[in-house]
Amino acid sequence: AYDVLVVGGGPAGASAAIYAARKGIRTGIVAERFGGQVNDTLGIENLIGVKYTEGPKLAASLEEHAKEYNIDIMKAQRVKSLEKKDLIEVELDNGAVLKSKTVIVTTGARWRNLGVPGEAEFKNKGVAYCPHCDGPLFAGKHVAVVGGGNSGIEAAIDLAGIAGHVTVLEFMPELKADSVLQDRLNSMPNTTVLKNAQVKEITGTSKVDGISYIERESGETKHIELQGVFVQIGLVPNTDWLGDTVERTRTGEIVVNNHGATNVPGVFAAGDCTNSPYKQIIISMGSGATAALGAFDYLIRN
Ligand code: FAD
Repeated sequence: AYDVLVVGGGPAGASAAIYAARKGIRTGIVAERFGGQVNDTLGIENLIGVKYTEGPKLAASLEEHAKEYNIDIMKAQRVKSLEKKDLIEVELDNGAVLKSKTVIVTTGARWRNLGVPGEAEFKNKGVAYCPHCDGPLFAGKHVAVVGGGNSGIEAAIDLAGIAGHVTVLEFMPELKADSVLQDRLNSMPNTTVLKNAQVKEITGTSKVDGISYIERESGETKHIELQGVFVQIGLVPNTDWLGDTVERTRTGEIVVNNHGATNVPGVFAAGDCTNSPYKQIIISMGSGATAALGAFDYLIRN
């Protein structure tokens, strides 16, 4: 059995495994895709201390760093359940069961996609999901934010300070964001809000050059020329596999305390799959370290 078994191999999982292994305890990491979301990222400019890197390069160096330690790395393996018995048992899709005294869940999240033509094609070519990451690429340009919930309106306010113009498109007749955010957005001169607007297509040739939407009231299709589209229709944590074993929020985020501990003794969590705010690489790495130190603390007390 392991002392610490990390589920997930993104920035949070790699960090948790390295911190655990550095304590000289038996550490394993099981992941479907090592590197996680980082694999899908082009330029990364906000990993402090690294001026610029690219997703696949960072993913490779996370793995290289983990390999420096005595860590059992199990790649291309999907976990399907977790059960607390004497030890914590983690079952893989292939039926194998891994046992550990503590488990750190770092299965991350995924941005909900719009699913319209052009979205996948122009990902990283004008289609973006993270205003903190990619906002500065659109300085002075016209961008759209799709989604009028809190994250959409926060993104629009953030982008309005950088971009030339920001157009928000919301499917419903009203924005769902808090009214203080809506007021803030409305006070910014370079913003437009379109409600009852159904995005139909993101257009472009080598990169985004516009967005087409259906004005739901009239049924008419309209087109706006712009250079960027930020999709903000929700972040979905990869936690369904946990079922009711661990406490999660209404949206599925694992509830953790400031030591990374969940409500189940010995089960910790870190990164985008938790209810900690702001989903970023550096934050995931930090919370992975916290969870590993939390697990170590738990091990020496139990
Ligand atoms: P993830 O990276 O999501 O990793 C989850 C891991 O769990 C993966 O290894 C996955 O395969 C594994 N997994 C999931 N389910 C299972 C299962 N059932 N069984 C086994 N393994 C499983 N952040 C920045 O700071 N700067 C940026 O520039 C930036 N740009 C981004 C661009 C894009 C396109 C995207 C998608 C994200 C970007 N982010 C950026 C966000 C950043 O990538 C995430 O915050 C970070 O990767 C979260 O790390 P994590 O380890 O919590 O989860």
